[in-house]
Amino acid sequence: MKNSRRDFLKAIAVLGATSSQLLKAEKGKAQSHIRLKSGHKVIGMKRGLKIKSIETFTRGNVSIVRLRTDDVAEGCGQISTYDADISAMVMHRKIAPHALGKDPADIDAIVDRCIETNYKYPWSFVCRALAGLDTAIWDLHGRREEKSVCELLGGTPRPITAYGSSMRRDIKPADEAKRLVHLRDTKGYRAFKIRIGKVCGHDQDQWPGRTEALVPTVRKAIGDDVSLLVDANSCYTPAKAIEVGKILEDNNVCHLEEPCPYWELEWTAKVTAALKVPVAGGEQDNDLAQWRRMIRMRAVDVVQPDICYVGGLTRALRVAALAAKENMSCVPHSANLAMVTVFTLHILGAIPNAGPYLEFSIEPAGWTKDIYYPGLEVRDGRVAIPDGPGWGVTVNPSWLAAAKRQISERK
Ligand SMILES: [Mg+2]
Repeated sequence: MKNSRRDFLKAIAVLGATSSQLLKAEKGKAQSHIRLKSGHKVIGMKRGLKIKSIETFTRGNVSIVRLRTDDVAEGCGQISTYDADISAMVMHRKIAPHALGKDPADIDAIVDRCIETNYKYPWSFVCRALAGLDTAIWDLHGRREEKSVCELLGGTPRPITAYGSSMRRDIKPADEAKRLVHLRDTKGYRAFKIRIGKVCGHDQDQWPGRTEALVPTVRKAIGDDVSLLVDANSCYTPAKAIEVGKILEDNNVCHLEEPCPYWELEWTAKVTAALKVPVAGGEQDNDLAQWRRMIRMRAVDVVQPDICYVGGLTRALRVAALAAKENMSCVPHSANLAMVTVFTLHILGAIPNAGPYLEFSIEPAGWTKDIYYPGLEVRDGRVAIPDGPGWGVTVNPSWLAAAKRQISERK
């Protein structure tokens, strides 16, 4: 039989408890767990709140989301970067109406409702906007529980090994090698990713012979004990990818990303079956049924959901769980230093099939500078998972003040 709150308070009073003990005891009693559809257990997620308002703050490539509930709790997340003004409009027109008034603890149901009611507008911008809502809800839960998102999922904040991710194809092999060696020596990186071929290149290179020169030049410069990853960004047909793959194997490359146009799953599966070097992919994929197909047919060896492209942490966890069932590792895509890299640190700290690295851009911060603090730092080749409540970072008030504000509110 349940005790009434009065009986509970009386019992505590009899025991002579202090008010802080009382609060702690009440909190412990109220603490609950929920099991997400992905199977992940989440600490806390108290029920009974209602989403009161959803604000977007849009500036250039970035749109930050602030969510408030009727008890004035709040959380911040971020819409996927690039064309953030379009995604912010989608947030207010196509996402917010399905979330306002809902209990944020029903995160699975909210996320599914936003996808299903937009079934005529599938994926890209709906998922980009949804990521902003989802990540704000996770921050809100973390702040209420005074735990990081990583801890809500049963993980422990800790330093995660990063690979330094080059975004450049306009750079000569010798210059690329030089800057990677400098980063190895100054930041302690033990892994790097470089760009081969040409984006959607139909078997063409950025310029003739670049890939054949780049891979051995970088391998020789960084040394045999530093891991080398490459990304082809949908460049090759299977025959060409396998040909290039032999060069990669000769240079001890440990990760070949997106060798073929990513939508051609059968092409990618052929490359994966033919090569020893592990093939990775999926950063653009946001349809969970497509993910299921990709994983079942073993189109790739390593899955790379992007938390913001796929529609938020809740959906990224579903991809990670599908991969875990097939003993595949998950190395999420996080190609810029806006909040997606913060979100990615937390998932890497929490899932059992996290791959060995965090993708960490080595390009200048540019438009991602000063969005939040504390900024992420590479020390000894690793980046610490922010250990404060929620995502463990604070959006910079001056960044918000310079952004365009829009709000959807529950009347
Ligand atoms: Mg990529």
